[in-house]
Amino acid sequence: MSAYDIAIPADTGATLVVDLDAIAENYALLQETCPHARVGASVKADAYGLGLEPVARTLSKVGCRTFFVATPGEGLTLRGILPKAEIVVLNGPESGQTDLFARGMLTPTLNSLEQIDVWQQDNKDGPAPAYLHVDTGMNRLGLSATDVETLIADPARLDGVSISTLITHLACADTPAHPMNTAQLSAFQAARAQLETLTGGLQASLANSPGIFLGPEYHFDLVRPGAALYGLTPSPEQPNPMKQAVEIYAKILQLRDVDTPMTVGYGAAHQVEKPARIATVAAGYGDGYPRAAASKTGGTMHAYIADHKAPLFGRVSMDLITLDVSDLPAEFTVPGQAVELLGPNVSADDLAKSAGTIGYEILTGFGNRLHRVYRGGEG
Ligand SMILES: *Cc1c(COP(=O)(O)O)cnc(C)c1O
Repeated sequence: MSAYDIAIPADTGATLVVDLDAIAENYALLQETCPHARVGASVKADAYGLGLEPVARTLSKVGCRTFFVATPGEGLTLRGILPKAEIVVLNGPESGQTDLFARGMLTPTLNSLEQIDVWQQDNKDGPAPAYLHVDTGMNRLGLSATDVETLIADPARLDGVSISTLITHLACADTPAHPMNTAQLSAFQAARAQLETLTGGLQASLANSPGIFLGPEYHFDLVRPGAALYGLTPSPEQPNPMKQAVEIYAKILQLRDVDTPMTVGYGAAHQVEKPARIATVAAGYGDGYPRAAASKTGGTMHAYIADHKAPLFGRVSMDLITLDVSDLPAEFTVPGQAVELLGPNVSADDLAKSAGTIGYEILTGFGNRLHRVYRGGEG
């Protein structure tokens, strides 16, 4: 009966499908795009909400050797999945965490002079190759230009600390013409030349997903994509070259006919203007479907049923959304029918745009209630 090849179990309202083969293909496309750099993977926040274990295993199988997480806790979890990978903790070490890093064989990212000191004091027992982060304009993490000068003037601060890789992070990579990109590139090259007088040759890593598409001069030795692996567009102004990796299907619970002067949903916010048929669907903001997608009267977003567009009608609730299915064939407007909330016709980027946010926030916002299905990933 379902127009989609997807089962939504009886005990749940919606199914999230993660296409592991799409993630593997996206990895291969990124590797083709930067043939002279190693392609690492950013898998922080549970691989952007897609599930750390299946995603990390898939990427490891297709040749990824370096994984980026935000916290030591994420690193330890990943170590349980991938015993041999290089696991880099982006947020860096705090005092007293040496054991944690040692236990997980985690690579710290040193983001400040204080973190360098912590790592040096806690790590007298042996070489612990770290990443060093220099800030070139993001002003979030990383040594400032002044910090780099301080370090150059006091090289003993690095005694016993071995640095393998220098990184920085781009602020505006999704806007290729933005002058920040070339400014950060030059600042990074300058910091690298300065620091290499202390450390000797360093590996270098600059690009996130959009950074990879800025051109080969941004690739250096290692790139750190997350978003593009998961199908989000790396260059919002261009057609998306990545394969979509996420779909969400929710089932129709009920149908009802409405007419003026009725309203639909919370706040009586949606006025019925002409006779319509409404489908109530079993997913809402509790599942990560953004409430803001329907914040304007009339709804700005739509779902799809078997390639037919069904606009949102009324506010998104925690567990439910309502769709206008007036123009759909009757065979598709029955209880139990699967509705595509994300999939071939609706990308996470589309949904994000309608809600005034970015695809990253949509992916990381998926709720635990969604039934999860992983497709592919065997190869
Ligand atoms: C999250 C993150 C990345 C990955 O960024 P995407 O835009 O998802 O590719 C790379 N580098 C750093 C430092 C990050 O925090």
